[in-house]
Amino acid sequence: MEGSTRRGLVIVYTGNGKGKTTAALGMAVRAVGYGMRVVMIQFIKGSWHYGEIDGALRLKPEFELITAGRGFVGIMDDDLPRDMHVAAAREALKVSREMLLSNMYDIVILDEVNYAVRLGLVSVEDVLDLIKVKPYSTTLVLTGNYADERIIDEADLVTEMREIKHPFKKGIKALKGIDF
Ligand code: ATP
Ligand code: MG
Repeated sequence: MEGSTRRGLVIVYTGNGKGKTTAALGMAVRAVGYGMRVVMIQFIKGSWHYGEIDGALRLKPEFELITAGRGFVGIMDDDLPRDMHVAAAREALKVSREMLLSNMYDIVILDEVNYAVRLGLVSVEDVLDLIKVKPYSTTLVLTGNYADERIIDEADLVTEMREIKHPFKKGIKALKGIDF
């Protein structure tokens, strides 16, 4: 494909404001428009919503969602034992590595991976290693608040979503199509 020999970037979307996952999804929509292949892998269980899942199906076959350990969603919520979170994040890491090394994708999105590092579910070294083994032409996107400084150091593009206002603060609950 045209552009496949072009340099891929390491992109970080972090910060406490809304829009990190949405920004990654927006990039995916744009890339699919060129027939590029995109995969998004979830690191924190339950952070994906049906809107994305059904929307992704309409971007088939170029866009794929990988819901590592998705079998638990709906059965367990935030009370999930830590072991389960660790297992899901480790599985996501393994899948991410396979996807990256497969060279089949133009863009690989690791959703909430920064937060998974912050929580100690995966190590920062493991994520730095993914950045290191990334094929030259693949773009790697890492979302989630509290991005580690060492990951920021390795990135080419870092945007911090900073909350100025969020409707949640005035009691407006998550909205369909906006938040999930
Ligand atoms: P989105 O998926 O909407 O792009 P995000 O990826 O930036 O959000 P996450 O930390 O993944 O943020 O949180 C996902 C959910 O939390 C979304 O429903 C989002 O609206 C909500 N959210 C994000 N930022 C805030 C905030 N500052 N205060 C309250 N809720 C928030
Ligand atoms: Mg998110």
